Amino acid sequence: MGDTLRRVAVLGVTGSIGQQTLEVLRREPESLRLVSIAGGRRVEEMIRIAREFSVEQIGVTNEADREKVHAEIPDVNVVVGPEGLESLASTAEVVVNAVVGFAGLPATLGALRSGARLALANKESLVVAAPLVNSVRGNSLSEIVPIDSEHCAIHQCLANSSVGHPTVRRLILTASGGPFRGRSVSELREVTLEEALQHPTWSMGPKITVDSSTLMNKGLEVLEAAALFGVSVDRIDVVIHPQSIVHSMVEYIDGSTIAQLSQPDMRLPIAYALALPERFDHAWGALSFREAVDLSFEPPNRDAFPALNLAYAVGRRGGAMPAWLSAANEVAVEAFLSGHIAWHQIVPIVEETLAHYVDDPLTSIEALYEHDAEARARARDLIRRAP
Ligand code: NAD
Ligand code: MG
Repeated sequence: MGDTLRRVAVLGVTGSIGQQTLEVLRREPESLRLVSIAGGRRVEEMIRIAREFSVEQIGVTNEADREKVHAEIPDVNVVVGPEGLESLASTAEVVVNAVVGFAGLPATLGALRSGARLALANKESLVVAAPLVNSVRGNSLSEIVPIDSEHCAIHQCLANSSVGHPTVRRLILTASGGPFRGRSVSELREVTLEEALQHPTWSMGPKITVDSSTLMNKGLEVLEAAALFGVSVDRIDVVIHPQSIVHSMVEYIDGSTIAQLSQPDMRLPIAYALALPERFDHAWGALSFREAVDLSFEPPNRDAFPALNLAYAVGRRGGAMPAWLSAANEVAVEAFLSGHIAWHQIVPIVEETLAHYVDDPLTSIEALYEHDAEARARARDLIRRAP
């Protein structure tokens, strides 16, 4: 790496991606300096991190937490709520957005407006606000470097060409298939919360772990790839790859397919997004090949996992519809996590919510917040009336 310290903000610092980002930062003190952090809960943990890294700013979600932080570390600047999150994004050269769900939107917009590099784990902000994000991106020096492992793989496989380049035929996203791969529709009616939280290859936060079990995560990732790389969903394919070693692929028009491989370890894409255009000299996910490695690929079962087709249909309609999909899914996943609905009800609730969507091209942030609220209200209503 060069000899200047890069200023880094980690928003969503107490979560799975946030904690793994701290592991990368601890290894690279010569290159990276943590200046700002934010999180939703676990304020004691944030105070501990602030002390360890001598951060300058902390973002919290409420006044009580602001006072707690102020009492413990009075010389640190504390900001509150979504506006605080957005303002923190302009304090650093690289903003790691590791917040979960719609709550990550202010961090994405703040980073893009400030011209910082957005190291993006929060796929939901790109999915819900694609038309808005892309218009801010068009007027900004900012770049998005994806942390989501599939998109980071595609970023690497594209090297210096872009998806718009006439030699690129399609993007192929890999999916582990989640804990319920191979189960039939009737077997899926019996699955429990505990089983849904057992991901076979990745250890992640609860929301994305449930999304992986329904394949909604892959559906969201198709929409994320479309927004990120500026390509229609029909040039994106999904293949099930249970080992999670090939993280995604790019197929070129001459039949050549380029893949990126590593052990499933999120610290690799996190380090990539922090180091670009260089690379850190530490191998987080290296494959040794000293033992046999089997790689297998199979098409997804679209009948058992209808979230995938739903996401493609939503991607083709565009506008505010992806925001509805994501909002309804967040509400349904929360209801599942808190024991109010069964696993097999998650995707049908999302689908029924979408039936109320009326086309809108999505031209303002105010409209986005209205769509989000309406989709959530519809989904909650369906959950209340669910058998
Ligand atoms: P997590 O639940 O472990 O952590 C979420 C973080 O967001 C926590 O720090 C939480 O306090 C914070 N947060 C929640 N609401 C907030 C708010 N209103 N304001 C500020 N902070 C808030 O989730 P995770 O698994 O780390 O995932 C984070 C994001 O990264 C998600 O969008 C997920 O889809 C994406 N992602 C995660 C992984 C993974 O391996 N965990 C892989 C790829 C993509
Ligand atoms: Mg992913």
